[in-house]
Amino acid sequence: MAKDLKQTVFLPKTDFPMRAGLPKKEPEILAMWNDMGFFDELRARRQGHEKFILHDGPPYANGNLHIGHALNKILKDLINRFQSAIGKDANYVPGWDCHGLPIEWKIEEQYRKKKRNKDEVPIVEFRNECRDFASHWVDVQSEEFQRLGVMGNWADPYLTMAYSSEAVIAREIGKFLMNGSLFRGSKPVMWSAVEKTALAEAEIEYFDRTSTTIYARFPVKSSPMAELDGAQIIIWTTTPWTMPGNRATAYGEEINYGLYHVDAVAEDSLAKVGDRLVFADDLADSIAEACGISAMTRSNDVPVEVFKDTILKHPLNGQGYDHDVPMLPADYVTTDQGTGIVHIAPGHGAEDYVLGIAHGVPVPETVAADGRLMDHLPHFAGMSALKDNPAIADKLAELGALLGRGQVTHSYPHSWRSHAPLIFRNTPQWFISMESHGLRDTALKALSETVFYPPVGQSRLTSMIAGRPDWCISRQRAWGVPIPVFVHKASGEPLRDQAVIDRVVEAFEKEGADAWFASPPERFLGDQYDASEYEQVTDIVDVWFDSGSTHAFLLEGNNDMSWPADMYLEGSDQHRGWFHSSLLESCGTRGRAPYDSVLTHGFVLDEQGRKMSKSLGNTVTPQDVIKENGADILRIWVANSDYYDDLRIGKEILQRQVDHYRRLRNTFRYLLGALDGFSDDERIAVADMPSLDRWVLHRLTEVDATIRKAIAGHDYHQVFTSLHHFCNSDLSAFYFDIRKDTLYCADPASVERRACRTVMDEVFNCLVPWLAPILCFTAEEAWQTRYPNPKESVHFGVWRDLPADWVDENLGLRWMRVRDARLVVTGAIEKLRADGVVKSSLQAHPTLYAPAAVIEAFDGLDAADIFITSSASLKQATPPADARLAEDDETIGVTVALAEGHKCQRCWKILPEVDDAEDAMCQRCDDVVSTMGDAAAE
Ligand SMILES: [Zn+2]
Repeated sequence: MAKDLKQTVFLPKTDFPMRAGLPKKEPEILAMWNDMGFFDELRARRQGHEKFILHDGPPYANGNLHIGHALNKILKDLINRFQSAIGKDANYVPGWDCHGLPIEWKIEEQYRKKKRNKDEVPIVEFRNECRDFASHWVDVQSEEFQRLGVMGNWADPYLTMAYSSEAVIAREIGKFLMNGSLFRGSKPVMWSAVEKTALAEAEIEYFDRTSTTIYARFPVKSSPMAELDGAQIIIWTTTPWTMPGNRATAYGEEINYGLYHVDAVAEDSLAKVGDRLVFADDLADSIAEACGISAMTRSNDVPVEVFKDTILKHPLNGQGYDHDVPMLPADYVTTDQGTGIVHIAPGHGAEDYVLGIAHGVPVPETVAADGRLMDHLPHFAGMSALKDNPAIADKLAELGALLGRGQVTHSYPHSWRSHAPLIFRNTPQWFISMESHGLRDTALKALSETVFYPPVGQSRLTSMIAGRPDWCISRQRAWGVPIPVFVHKASGEPLRDQAVIDRVVEAFEKEGADAWFASPPERFLGDQYDASEYEQVTDIVDVWFDSGSTHAFLLEGNNDMSWPADMYLEGSDQHRGWFHSSLLESCGTRGRAPYDSVLTHGFVLDEQGRKMSKSLGNTVTPQDVIKENGADILRIWVANSDYYDDLRIGKEILQRQVDHYRRLRNTFRYLLGALDGFSDDERIAVADMPSLDRWVLHRLTEVDATIRKAIAGHDYHQVFTSLHHFCNSDLSAFYFDIRKDTLYCADPASVERRACRTVMDEVFNCLVPWLAPILCFTAEEAWQTRYPNPKESVHFGVWRDLPADWVDENLGLRWMRVRDARLVVTGAIEKLRADGVVKSSLQAHPTLYAPAAVIEAFDGLDAADIFITSSASLKQATPPADARLAEDDETIGVTVALAEGHKCQRCWKILPEVDDAEDAMCQRCDDVVSTMGDAAAE
């Protein structure tokens, strides 16, 4: 009776589908996690474990997520999940930055569309609209982050606009007020006349802009050099509107200057024959050309020592600008362009300000908040600094102040929000001093004690802190936490009284920062002070102060968290943003950084390395990738990238991640299929296992050590690469391949098959949890397929410590030799298959020629099994002339003959013991099948 032999082969069986269908499957898994109260349950299971706090840098709540957000949050999630997997209590509380100009700007845009004037809307009403806008986007982004598989306390995130947060931010400002490092100063700040506010460095973009340029005449008033009597010093500037604010000029001590007589001029020139002018020799030709001077004579050297005691008149002297203009040495003056002499308006430039202060030069206020020149300025009152630039130049020319004029296109600062050009404007602002209480030194020391990944971040942030000016924290806007300070009108001194601050904090806690605007000042000042004697500050605090204080309102004094954080992680642009402001805030109030380590990642570019933009049409959105491929593909992309550098993404790159994914999924699927029906009764002791199976256990210990080390160094790329290599090379292409025959055909009760299934069980129980932090959805799907339980998750487990008796270094070395030899054999058989000599490796009988060390490595092993042939020979000898040699070792070679015998119809091995009957079987298969027959008969 012919048996259906196919029925007797133990083919793998599993419900885990080959096709992932992630876009549909992932939301089902999210729903399951939701039902089991995933995050609370995980926290409960880690209670009492060492904490790991990755403090979330708050994204801004004003739009859908882009691919950069996805990178950022997935990377954070990888870290949190790996830390949780090795046993830590990783309490991740996501947060949002809710105050600030971009949201105000959106609301104002809506007003403009409705033809509403913002200045007529009560401030509390305006703030409420901003609050609603931020709330909406917090909800949208929260959904989108969760869809990426990011785990955390989404039910209770932190918001900078929460009343409790606003109260803490006010309390933190109070600390700087009380210790004396908060002061009101007058300084030029980058100012947007459109938004009517000072901007931070991070809010500025540079674009090309064409400006009117002028060469202006400064008559010499007095000088120790007699030849300068009646001469004019010439300066060049790209900002004619700063001329009313001029209070000095600067020269370079290394530059050679000369006195020039104008002999002839072009027709339309502003220069006159007989003019006697001073400028740098290097620039004489370019000045002559630009100002239409057709002939001039150099009459004298003008030594720089002379300048020190030379006093100039303003170009508009006698017309309302009659102050003296000193000449000051400055090492930043060059002869790259201009005249080698620089005009100094201390209210309109950082360098000008510093130079002016150092020499006791006054800092006038000349430009109002709306960017117009102030009323006290003769000839220019009411003119717009930027728009009326040519008109201002016209006026200067008309008044005889100019030698020449022109235009220049240069890189110019603009508001990143309104794209309006900015000006440096001298305004009263609130500053935190870098020096008065040693903030700079404290911050630099804190940086030296912080670990940076990658290390270059340390020097980057250090040089920024070392060179930065005082921290300007005031903004003349409405949507934010007010600087809760009262200034004594008579003395100009801020009121420093902790009781007042405490009343403010208490009010904010209950009613939010709106209380500052909605309450009479008496509420905060109490009975002790006369409100009429105090000015209530209405500036709000820079949003970087808000986010710089998140450590104070989320981490500190919170039993669920810890302070300082183990890690801050953001894009490398946050060296000047969040890492920076958090460091200053914490060092100024607590004397150290709020973090032990800082990790930075790069930016996301397209496949060609270009920035993504709507106009290039190369934008990849996380929403699209999820719809097309699933979040696990994006997660692989992050884990598989060098995230310290900029990352690229596009169709081809995503396809590569899909390929990686497929191999990992197939590994899960193969294990699940092979383990069908596996029970503990089948388990076998390590000591009783064949060498190959013990080698796999040894490999598990090696992979375990490698990935734990990589996690300690936050090298998740290494984690992914090691696991992918293990699945692909060690399992699929080697162990699974060799053990296929055992698994499909061997007696289920045999030591070989039991050992193989025991090992596969161990592999599954290691591999799925190892990959779970990366493939958070697919690992859960595989886990639930094997251990279905709606109350359990693969993510709840802590990675086990692998048994010490799995480690066997000698076995590792031995199998390295065997695998090297096997490569030569499979290469030779592959050649025959390509040539059509054999169809399957089971038709081949290879003979391996190798030195003793290699042949001995095969001691006790069935070489044919390892080569996946029906038979094989090993010879300790030099390979014959017709052998195929190992690529880098001529002492190892292979010849291949055809296997002798007939094909077993069950296992397809060709063996001498098999006859040529239609359903002939080898001895092993015959035994297995008859045992099955007996079992069926029983
Ligand atoms: Zn057989």
